[in-house]
Amino acid sequence: MSVIFDNKKIFEYQIPVVVIGAGACGLCAALAVKEMGTEVIVLERDSTPLGTTAMSTGLIPGANTKLQKAAGIEDSVQLFTNDIIKKSKHQTDSDIAHTLASESALTIEWLIEKYDIPLSLVDSFLYPGHSVMRMHGTPNRTGSELMGSLCNAAEKAEIDILTNSLVTDLYSDEKNKVIGVKITREDGTSEDIGCDALILACCGFAGNPEMLKEFIPEIKDAVFFGHPGNKGDAIKWGKLLGADLADISSFQGHGGLAVGRGVPILWPMIMEGAFQVNNLGQRFSDESLGYSEQAVKVVAQPEKYAWNIFDQRLHDLMKEFEDYNNAIEANAIIRVEDLNELSSVINIDKEILEQTVRSVEKMVSGSLEDPFGRDFTGKEPLRAPYYTVKVTGALFHTQGGLVVDSSARVLNKERQKLPNLFAGGGSARGISGPSDWGYMAGNGLLTATTFGRLAGRSASEFLKKTINSDNI
Ligand SMILES: Cc1cc2nc3c(=O)[nH]c(=O)nc-3n(C[C@H](O)[C@H](O)[C@H](O)COP(=O)(O)OP(=O)(O)OC[C@H]3O[C@@H](n4cnc5c(N)ncnc54)[C@H](O)[C@@H]3O)c2cc1C
Repeated sequence: MSVIFDNKKIFEYQIPVVVIGAGACGLCAALAVKEMGTEVIVLERDSTPLGTTAMSTGLIPGANTKLQKAAGIEDSVQLFTNDIIKKSKHQTDSDIAHTLASESALTIEWLIEKYDIPLSLVDSFLYPGHSVMRMHGTPNRTGSELMGSLCNAAEKAEIDILTNSLVTDLYSDEKNKVIGVKITREDGTSEDIGCDALILACCGFAGNPEMLKEFIPEIKDAVFFGHPGNKGDAIKWGKLLGADLADISSFQGHGGLAVGRGVPILWPMIMEGAFQVNNLGQRFSDESLGYSEQAVKVVAQPEKYAWNIFDQRLHDLMKEFEDYNNAIEANAIIRVEDLNELSSVINIDKEILEQTVRSVEKMVSGSLEDPFGRDFTGKEPLRAPYYTVKVTGALFHTQGGLVVDSSARVLNKERQKLPNLFAGGGSARGISGPSDWGYMAGNGLLTATTFGRLAGRSASEFLKKTINSDNI
């Protein structure tokens, strides 16, 4: 992966805007470019556009959306901004957080009304860190459905997505203006495409073990459950072009990947009263703080796993999510009649397990304080029959990257704009602060969809301005 400085390069094919990566960010960017009347092409390394987006639950947060209003939920841009900043412990860029929060409802409505993406409000669970219910998802709450709808929208808009096209190099002039890209096909042949603006939508470096070792050593031993094709190319190119990087150690982890099944057990179960024990039968954390930071905590337990303990009510509640139904089908979910059976099935000392379960019951009734600080009051106590699933900690995707302004334009260390480079999604610095604890549910697809839309719009506006000024 390099940047080739070549002023005199002549390209046989020239497209005004090139987008690298066909996940949520790349497709939203391309739709925004095209609707402004600018030609665009999307280059994707895989044979089918999937990315991390297709692996995800596909939930996108939006503040003050029409769907929230119809459900009687009062939200505001300021409330959402405050939630993002609070979760990041005030260690993110508050202007960017505000921009994303204020554009979030516009993105949701743009996707639904202009591109027929079938989003509805998730009104059954409050995700950690959010003051109100503001997650929007497709009918089965899957990223593959979201990707399918985005690909349909791109096809209808007559956007070309060139698959099996790994971008290996960029071409630039001496002022770090990108003038084109080199793609390599599966058969080893390569092709050059010229461009006037470039949008980097090829996510972060979760699929690159060397970069993980260098920037986020604490997660390198966790299971990787993200898109292996995301090798940090945007970050490498950006650096070579003089871009600034920030929060490079930031990532989205998950403390509930079903062991040996590769299915995430989503956090609504925890938020509604489930808890985790290690293989000694002991709780070890406030699970409700968030699933991202829970990954490292689970991996730190003996043999790197934990058991989610829950009951029939939570089992039924979770069936809204296709991931959970997949976990049932994969025989990951175990049902037991009582604590006796639970202790023998998961091979944990019965007395210790019973003590843990009874302690949580007291925390629910308010007669005992959780030593880890979790507030269980208001939840229903767990009742037999019990359910359990063995989980481990996983890395989903990285959240640090290229510093961008509120129009998704890449900036250098002096906070000046690079000539014609834009970025969003996992390629750009997110809004999760410098580590794992700042990731609030939805931060990934908020930055992918909204920065994608903003990057597309800004790239098109930038080209129109350039053409106008050239004509003066
Ligand atoms: C299990 C799971 C559940 C999740 N659930 C949610 C959720 O509900 N809500 C949420 O907000 N976030 C969620 N996330 C995070 C979210 O999926 C990501 O933040 C988001 O999908 C990133 O989008 P993207 O477009 O930046 O990257 P991607 O979707 O990964 O797309 C990047 C694309 O670039 C391509 N590419 C990479 N390098 C090159 C190259 N050199 N040349 C050509 N192509 C290249 C890749 O093949 C890929 O298709 C989840 C993640 C996981 C793993």
